[in-house]
Amino acid sequence: MTIENTSDTDVVAEPSFAQLGIAPALCTHLAALGIETPTPVQAATIVPLLQGRDVLAQAQTGTGKTAAYGLPMLQRFEPADSRIQGLVVVPTRELALQVCKALSSYRGEAPNTQVLALYGGDSFSKQLHALSKHPQVVVATPGRLIDHLERGSVRLDGVRMAVLDEADEMLNMGFLDDVEKILEAVPASRQLALLSATMPSEIAGLVDQYLRDPVRIRIDATVKAAPTVSQRYTIALPELRAEAVARLLDVEPFEAALIFARTKATCDELTEALQRHGVACEALHGDLAQTARETVVRRLRDGRLRVVVATDVAARGLDVPVLDLVVTIELPGELGTYVHRIGRTGRAGRTGTSILVLGPRDERKLRALERYIGQPIKFQPVPSPEEVAHAKQGRFVERIRALAAEADTAPWKAVIDRCVEGDVAVADIAAALARLAAPRGVVPVLPEKPLAVEPKPLRDAPPPAVERQQAEERRPTRTKPGPGPGSAPGPGQGPRPFEPPPGQVVMSLGVGRRNNVTPAQIVAALTHCLNVPNRALGRIELYDNFSTIEVPEEIARRMPLALRGVDICGRFLNPRPAQRNADEAPRRGPDRRPR
Ligand code: AMP
Repeated sequence: MTIENTSDTDVVAEPSFAQLGIAPALCTHLAALGIETPTPVQAATIVPLLQGRDVLAQAQTGTGKTAAYGLPMLQRFEPADSRIQGLVVVPTRELALQVCKALSSYRGEAPNTQVLALYGGDSFSKQLHALSKHPQVVVATPGRLIDHLERGSVRLDGVRMAVLDEADEMLNMGFLDDVEKILEAVPASRQLALLSATMPSEIAGLVDQYLRDPVRIRIDATVKAAPTVSQRYTIALPELRAEAVARLLDVEPFEAALIFARTKATCDELTEALQRHGVACEALHGDLAQTARETVVRRLRDGRLRVVVATDVAARGLDVPVLDLVVTIELPGELGTYVHRIGRTGRAGRTGTSILVLGPRDERKLRALERYIGQPIKFQPVPSPEEVAHAKQGRFVERIRALAAEADTAPWKAVIDRCVEGDVAVADIAAALARLAAPRGVVPVLPEKPLAVEPKPLRDAPPPAVERQQAEERRPTRTKPGPGPGSAPGPGQGPRPFEPPPGQVVMSLGVGRRNNVTPAQIVAALTHCLNVPNRALGRIELYDNFSTIEVPEEIARRMPLALRGVDICGRFLNPRPAQRNADEAPRRGPDRRPR
């Protein structure tokens, strides 16, 4: 590894944390957290930061950048000094909390070091109380930190290391003046690290003015995944993840699949859930005895087992050439791990597929990952029950046709001859035999009750609006108490489809009465995926093949993205503005979730 202070540095070597100068006790602590090998940005920053140098690093979320400056910061503390010694300035409240949590978990041998997050929107009195306990590290958003500086509740005269994290974001958000004020308030003797995913020209000004002879580090922003691996992602509600994975395994053609979970617990949970869905699979993680792990791997390699659910650690070094499908149910924090995961497939010139199962709110993570690997990941909806049945039927038919072509069918024809005695048609006999021999799900059974795919309300007891609605559903004519008095159409007032109140939009959803959907299911899915309360949703009307819902414009705008790939009762919601269309008119009046 070479580090220069004049030109960009390409980092390739993989030293250990101890070799970089991290104290043994801290190394042991990190290893317990699964942080054993430094990521490239850590390998590049730790040494110069421990030496007291300023650093300018181009690195983004998911590269391990927090530990890259956090570990040297924690190691360079002066235990006797109770002032704020480490300052991290970040653009958003979310990042402040995330960095605070990360630094608290990394501090290991210095458990007395208090790390405090200061951000806008949080109560001042709570922050003042926390400040009175003398935190040695403060992670702050610029605006709130300036407020504290002006009130005199924060002093930065003890700061030894200051960090500007996601500096480009801070400048984008218009925090340049605040950042400069903060940098003027820390002692001139401080060490400064500036981290940024991009290096726009505005950053150069900050660098020239505040960084002293910095070590410049550029981590290649994109980590190439093997081009032989086709990468896709799908979206499923967390409680339906196992069902989604089971359906993917049903429709994807594959020889052997590895499904990655982050923890042993999720690994076991998913294995059991998949087994309940009829998938023959085994778990592979560190709690299993060595011989049990070897047996699982051997069976996978021999083709006796096609699906294994593994943790990253247990799958490390696993080389199974037939492996052609990798499913990731939880995106690893450190994005390099994702690249390692998909590197298990598409080896030696073979092709492979990677499918990432995300939650409806993981859009940001997906974008960070796409930036990291430098290529887009294609969306693929969770297969519908019909698609699953179609795939299963295809395999079943193939087996029958192959047997008919290859096997000696004469002895079995005699059996058929006996069956056709009387006036039973051969085709009916064949159909009966197919029914006897078919595995589960070859013929789609339209559920009388909604499938397990239905999103359940998130709380044990239904929220009041759902309860009200469920009571209403049991009545022949329905009216929902509206957001304000007088907005409810009285009984007998007739349907008012597609005529929303001002500021509201009527959106149509691709699931209807024929799919046995209930308004409660729609409410549950929408409140969960859009992260809105019940009361934000207006009247729902069920038609045979679709339904409509009144929502505020702001929510309507978010619906297509937030509900992408989400299905209820096996139907994608596919939200779009409802149009008055004669073809879509209900044959009988709509069922309503009244206002
Ligand atoms: P960051 O880029 O700092 O947001 O870190 C992303 C994730 O990577 C966090 O969940 C860290 O705990 C994890 N992480 C950081 N360094 C390492 C490492 N050397 N090995 C494995 N995971 C790491």
